[in-house]
Amino acid sequence: MTAAVEFLNVSRHYGAGPVAVKAVDGVDLTIPEGEFFAMLGPSGSGKTTCLRLISGFETPTAGAIRIFGEDVSRVPPNLRNVNTVFQDYALFPHMSVRDNVAYGLMVKGVDRRSRLAKADEMLSLVHLPDYGSRKPGQLSGGQRQRVALARALVNEPKVLLLDEPLGALDLKLREAMQDELKNLQRRLGITFVFVTHDQGEALSMADRVAVFSRGRIVQVGTPEEIYDRPATRFVADFVGSSNVLPPDLSARLGGPATWASLRPEAIRLTDTAPRARGRVTGLRYLGLGTRLAVDVGGTELVALVPAGTALPAEGAEVGLTWAADAAHQMAGEA
Ligand code: ADP
Ligand code: MG
Repeated sequence: MTAAVEFLNVSRHYGAGPVAVKAVDGVDLTIPEGEFFAMLGPSGSGKTTCLRLISGFETPTAGAIRIFGEDVSRVPPNLRNVNTVFQDYALFPHMSVRDNVAYGLMVKGVDRRSRLAKADEMLSLVHLPDYGSRKPGQLSGGQRQRVALARALVNEPKVLLLDEPLGALDLKLREAMQDELKNLQRRLGITFVFVTHDQGEALSMADRVAVFSRGRIVQVGTPEEIYDRPATRFVADFVGSSNVLPPDLSARLGGPATWASLRPEAIRLTDTAPRARGRVTGLRYLGLGTRLAVDVGGTELVALVPAGTALPAEGAEVGLTWAADAAHQMAGEA
């Protein structure tokens, strides 16, 4: 297996001493060739800095970065075979769409006829074959997004970096573009490094997800691993909503005295032999189901009850149960 991107104990600190900002702090990472890799984390957790370290617009203060086995510490951005799609697209407003897409080839000295032919090919790839002569200002947000993608792909990068590329789109369009990007990645086989703060987006698109917190990676795994077996309280909280049980409550509910994560959809209502009893303090209809808040001796458990289940009234006593392995033990690190 070839690694497309490797981080070996990489840090990027700004300033020194007690005021230093540890934007990236001791990150180890291996992204195999052809993977759709997501970097997920709250704002300020170091995702963009990691992308800039890969593209070469930023240099590490410690550690080493390899791209396809080569230490790129001294390799300038234009020689890295890596391209970036930015959240704001960064298109040139005065140039036609075709010239925008062909720009990277112009910089490389490709003749006009060849580069425009290649640009048209890329515009077809992103389903905008007839838009070449327009200006970016004459396109919708979703269309501009595709142009930005075509402009990056025209360089045939071995790694494509995408920094919150769908952040500016409304929900429907964002979902459509998620499918499209995923299909495109599969078809082209290019390694994608996709940055997002949206956990649903990361889980639905990526082969593997790295969860970032304060410049560090707290967990790397498949979407299923991250969701079903969060390593820490932070991951359980940030990725989906979860019931985070402190050790005393875990013990009271029949598990070991450790921190545990219990997903709302794992909890069922029951009359016989419940693991917990409590009073319903809130019901919220969500379409796919109903979110029940239940006060279990001073702590609130949230259960997601599927549509079609008979619902208790607010204030009613209910019994709750879940499969023995549904409460996942984890580290208490917040
Ligand atoms: P994210 O993309 O996850 O939102 P960033 O990588 O942009 O996070 O930033 C991580 C941290 O590094 C933030 O606290 C940010 O303010 C800080 N940071 C980023 N770039 C610089 C810079 N050039 N100078 C000082 N601090 C920076
Ligand atoms: Mg960012």
